[in-house]
Amino acid sequence: MNQLVTVESSIYIPTFDENNDIYVDESPYKPYERKCVKYECRCKAGSYFVGSKMFKQHIKSKTHKDFISYYKKYFKEVDEAKEIINDLKIENELLKRKLKKYQKCIEMLDEEQFDDCD
Ligand SMILES: [Zn+2]
Repeated sequence: MNQLVTVESSIYIPTFDENNDIYVDESPYKPYERKCVKYECRCKAGSYFVGSKMFKQHIKSKTHKDFISYYKKYFKEVDEAKEIINDLKIENELLKRKLKKYQKCIEMLDEEQFDDCD
């Protein structure tokens, strides 16, 4: 077999339980999902899981449980900051495009003024 295997990898982000104001573990996989994405968990360097079974096993570890209970304190802001940065990037891109458009208009206006001077 000479196959290239591309391993998709994501960072696992626990679910926020708004009612209880805490983070909880919720499987990122659908039941019986076949092509499972590899998730890296920030509870421990090099820690990861692939598929429901491994996920269930992973969330039982003490390191992970501690990680979840401190999640809000250490990671919530980082995750939210990432989202804000993304939104700002999009907004910035749109504003840049608008600015380019207006710059062209200003250039055209300047040229017109020069024409008037002649
Ligand atoms: Zn973990």
